[in-house]
Amino acid sequence: MADVIPFDQRSGSLWYDGKLVPWTEAKTHVLTHGLHYGSCVFEGERIYGGTIYKLKEHTQRLFKSAEVLGMKIPFTQDQINAACIEAAQAQNIKDGYVRPVVYRGSEMMAVSAQNTKIHVAIAVWEWPSYFDPQEKLKGIRLDISTWKRPAPDTAPTQAKAAGLYMICTLSKHAAESKGYADAMMLDYRGYVAEATGANIFFVKDGSLHTPIADCFLNGITRQSVIAIAKAHQIPVIERHILPDELTQFGECFITGSAAEVTPVSEIGPYRFKPGKITETLMNAYADEVRGAKVSAAYG
Ligand code: PMP
Repeated sequence: MADVIPFDQRSGSLWYDGKLVPWTEAKTHVLTHGLHYGSCVFEGERIYGGTIYKLKEHTQRLFKSAEVLGMKIPFTQDQINAACIEAAQAQNIKDGYVRPVVYRGSEMMAVSAQNTKIHVAIAVWEWPSYFDPQEKLKGIRLDISTWKRPAPDTAPTQAKAAGLYMICTLSKHAAESKGYADAMMLDYRGYVAEATGANIFFVKDGSLHTPIADCFLNGITRQSVIAIAKAHQIPVIERHILPDELTQFGECFITGSAAEVTPVSEIGPYRFKPGKITETLMNAYADEVRGAKVSAAYG
């Protein structure tokens, strides 16, 4: 990790509350509601060849997440879309990652925070997606987390809210300490839910099976992959899946803006062999993000 430049020490500029500011000056005070009480939502988007994939969908979800947390973003969706592009252009990033974040400020420092300013920042950094299908098809190994995704009446599960990631970081750290790449999480009922930052799919008899997104994010990549599968005449079955059923599936992969389509070879005691359907969807998704569907282009 020695050669990784800390994120607060990078060069260039980022978009902060309406304008570009020098990267290292985009500061917030330690007494910030978003930091203490988790009043914070964010997005994670990828830029491929100068185009932010599904920018509008990500911005829509950012606004939805903020609304769920009772925060009114003081910009329009069009302004945020333009700001994402402006921030990417300022850094001259063609293949990278876009991180918009919305959080409550410092005006009030207690549970009640009705009068805090809603801040918005957008940072873009280089993050090429190294796409070597043969390497990827080996699959990653997942642990099974002891943490459960909460019920929709326990936490705002349809928001991409910072607080929901507490159990993701705990699960991922526990998995990494045992040599796994990531962890699969069950939900509050004991059904298979998702990975710590990605949705999950299985293959059985030529069909895709994926958990119903009723207590976790219905990922934008998940939706893209379902559409791609249907276009390839691959049936998609959204249903509740019990961990015991994992013995019946031949293939498994996870999906996310960062993870893209990542084949899985192991989940705890269960084994999978990335095969034809995973490969087809992985390649079709890679084609789509690299140009088939343009949502916003620049440069
Ligand atoms: N679940 C979680 C917990 C995530 O963090 C992500 C990544 N945003 C996803 C699912 C996948 O969402 P998307 O495909 O929209 O990136």
